[in-house]
Amino acid sequence: MSPQQEVKVGAQEHENVIQQFGIYDNPALAAYVNQVGQKVAQYTERSDVRYQFFVVDSPITNAFALPGGYIYVSRGLLALANSEAELAGVLGHEAGHITGRHSAERYSTGVVTSLGAAVIAAALGSDTASQALGVGSDLLLKSYSRGQEHEADSLGIRYLARSGYDTKAMTWFLTNLQADSALQGKLAGRDSQGASYFSTHPATSERISKTVSEANSHQGQGRVNRDGYLKMLSGMPFGDSAAQGFVRGQDFYHTKMGFTFKVPDGFHLVNQPNAVVATSKSGAVVLFDMAGNKQGVDAATYLGQTWMKDQPINGIERVKVGGMNAASAGFQGRVNGQPMNIRLVAIEWKPDTIARFQIAIPANASQVLLEDLKRTTYSFRNLSASERQSIQPYKLRIVTAAVSDSVASLARKMPFDDYQEERFRVLNGLNPNEGIQPGRQYKIVSSR
Ligand SMILES: [Zn+2]
Repeated sequence: MSPQQEVKVGAQEHENVIQQFGIYDNPALAAYVNQVGQKVAQYTERSDVRYQFFVVDSPITNAFALPGGYIYVSRGLLALANSEAELAGVLGHEAGHITGRHSAERYSTGVVTSLGAAVIAAALGSDTASQALGVGSDLLLKSYSRGQEHEADSLGIRYLARSGYDTKAMTWFLTNLQADSALQGKLAGRDSQGASYFSTHPATSERISKTVSEANSHQGQGRVNRDGYLKMLSGMPFGDSAAQGFVRGQDFYHTKMGFTFKVPDGFHLVNQPNAVVATSKSGAVVLFDMAGNKQGVDAATYLGQTWMKDQPINGIERVKVGGMNAASAGFQGRVNGQPMNIRLVAIEWKPDTIARFQIAIPANASQVLLEDLKRTTYSFRNLSASERQSIQPYKLRIVTAAVSDSVASLARKMPFDDYQEERFRVLNGLNPNEGIQPGRQYKIVSSR
């Protein structure tokens, strides 16, 4: 690819990234990340590239680069890093992929699958749709080769040295990334799906040992700036943000749009970019999304003539959900080879927007499950103004450890009931035996 082509491809894909993830709206943090990125990027070997750095509004730990100098870090990655030097290492690594022209060789166009019609289409026998159900929708980023990873690490360390940062920061971050991955494995079943740092940047243990020896080849101690970095993170949403809606146990809240619903116990809720999906061991699937209704037709007309346009459907029933007009209909189909009863519910949420449930229920489902799922539909309601104020996504807070504090006491401040201490250690880059130091600052996750 010529530099001109790189810029063109990058600009196009940049639009996809923004559509897919959104940019995290925090001008001060954006300016800071860009400033750290520019500091590092001025020492790259490609002065023809105009580097730009962005924070994407994603809770998943990830960083990636596009041809033409576009470099992204997620909120999730920023939350995991523990100093400006570590951030500089990540940005330098990504700049290294651009310098080495790795991204230009390896980047594959974004594949965005629409989940909207997935349950219906799956029920009607489309294979790609049933795959989409499991996979979710995300940008498909190809992973780099091991050689490219090592080259990007070396270049990143070189840029750290040239810009005066501590070259050991690359190792610190990779070590913490590995600990985070182990923790996510333990939390499996409830971790978010989609492209993560590991799917795009493989082979971490090997990278850690190589970065240790490479960092040692650079002399002296560079800048770390831990406190200044942590200060920038204070108040940043942790996990899904209000703009994306978030899961709390069996409830889904969208405080920005102003609605909520609840799924039955035993269902696992996942917030995907275009839909909220709940699955259970019974095989039942609940998929919730929003769809435009520009003509402003009523729910029954929408269900029969827009949603199920090509599939004549009988027995549309008019109901009320959360005080709103709604319509419901059912039909039989197969999902993943299993006979299912599909229940569709369309709710007139706003004059031009329909809230939709697609519920796939195994044909042999118990009466209890049927009742539970009925309650899910009827649990959909608008949030009150005071609920929109009081129900908040989790945020990062920075606390100073007191003499009486311990890992356990700080970990207890976080709103998690499992793996509390391990989550705290990973969040703060502490190894399994490391204690905390009084007077030092630490990140905690806070529900307020
Ligand atoms: Zn990489």
